[in-house]
Amino acid sequence: MSAVAVSKQRTAYRAFIDEHIAPVEDVLQREDDEAERILRDLRARARAEGLWAPHLPPEAGGTGEGFLAYADLNEEIGRVAWAQYVFNCQAPDAGNGEILHQFGTQEQQERWLKPLVAGEARSFFSMTEPDVSGADPTGLQTTATRNGDEWVLNGRKWFSSGAEGARFGIVMAVTEPDAEPRRRMSQLIVPADAPGLTIEPVPVLGHRGRGWTTHCEVTYDDVRVPQENLLGERGAGFLIAQKRLGPGRIHHVMRWLGQMQRAFELMCTRALEREAFGGPLAEKQTVQNWIADSAAEIQACRLLTLDAAHKIDDGRDARVEISLLKFYAADALSHVIDRAVQVHGALGLTNRSPLAHMYTNARGAHIYDGPDEVHRMVVSRRILQAFAAGEGWRFS
Ligand SMILES: Cc1cc2nc3c(=O)[nH]c(=O)nc-3n(C[C@H](O)[C@H](O)[C@H](O)COP(=O)(O)OP(=O)(O)OC[C@H]3O[C@@H](n4cnc5c(N)ncnc54)[C@H](O)[C@@H]3O)c2cc1C
Repeated sequence: MSAVAVSKQRTAYRAFIDEHIAPVEDVLQREDDEAERILRDLRARARAEGLWAPHLPPEAGGTGEGFLAYADLNEEIGRVAWAQYVFNCQAPDAGNGEILHQFGTQEQQERWLKPLVAGEARSFFSMTEPDVSGADPTGLQTTATRNGDEWVLNGRKWFSSGAEGARFGIVMAVTEPDAEPRRRMSQLIVPADAPGLTIEPVPVLGHRGRGWTTHCEVTYDDVRVPQENLLGERGAGFLIAQKRLGPGRIHHVMRWLGQMQRAFELMCTRALEREAFGGPLAEKQTVQNWIADSAAEIQACRLLTLDAAHKIDDGRDARVEISLLKFYAADALSHVIDRAVQVHGALGLTNRSPLAHMYTNARGAHIYDGPDEVHRMVVSRRILQAFAAGEGWRFS
């Protein structure tokens, strides 16, 4: 996609957000019936205008043009938390759509991917369990056992985002208990109305929780699915999860950039407008430092994101780049929003500014899709391995 086309696309998404989504943001935040009705209308309008599923390529039913173009676009989509849902590229459906596109059989794509891309169904991704570490998923305990031509699932998951009201989930379960740790699990597509499956939303900081915004405990009690619901090969659950989580992490960071940029704009505007001790806040050295530090962090995240997206588009291994970006950007996101709140004083904590909601949402960035500490570990391990092998490390 040419730079001009990317910029045109970005302008169209920005105009839609400014005109239709940002003005109703406080109503959407209520997560009630009215919010749901508005979201339905906004989705229909976005789809009619061709601003739809930009994470997937046209052959999968989307309007995507590759990772680099999507990185750019997501900086706009990320400005308002609800926009990803309006444009049907929300987590976890976006990641699920990507793996169904990459690993699903034709029948699976017809039955599960098509309604997802059309916005007729939502899904959830069910990996993390309450009883064992999610940071180290080799210990997951939920099982899927073959019984005739069916799989029988048993176990308990939580933090299955968006499970309430979803049509199906993609579930990580142990199918090969005797295999080496990273080959023990497979992924299975499980309809949400399967007998034995129960879904219970768990209240989480920052959300009232309804439908797409829920984080749920999901129990699988002798849940039966046909053998053709296996996604990819037996024992390939981890590999597929990595394929899903790698790009998914960049999707998050791209959206965080939108949040950071918006917080930064609010901070600068407020600093110029608000007077204290005989002059605008913008003249105080501390506030100037916050603005300069935020500008540097945002631009560093932007360049790291573009670098990782470029490598993914080129088919190169971007594991270190992705992990490095994930923990660095989570810190930057927290810093920038926190400084913006501080510059706003008490106003930053109220529902008269979007900052309070942005602030609570940002906390999870340090945990979901791998805690900061694990990403730091991945980066340093890879670099040290290269040094130990006498190769040293440099980013290419
Ligand atoms: C908003 C949100 C949405 C989510 N959505 C989903 C979803 O849709 N599907 C899904 O399956 N999961 C989801 N998760 C779960 C998420 O992926 C897990 O919370 C995450 O992987 C961490 O697992 P855990 O919570 O079990 O923490 P644990 O594994 O118990 O780790 C706890 C803490 O231990 C520390 N730690 C762990 N390992 C190391 C290490 N090697 N070195 C140093 N410190 C370490 C870290 O500080 C970490 O935060 C979501 C989480 C959040 C917050």
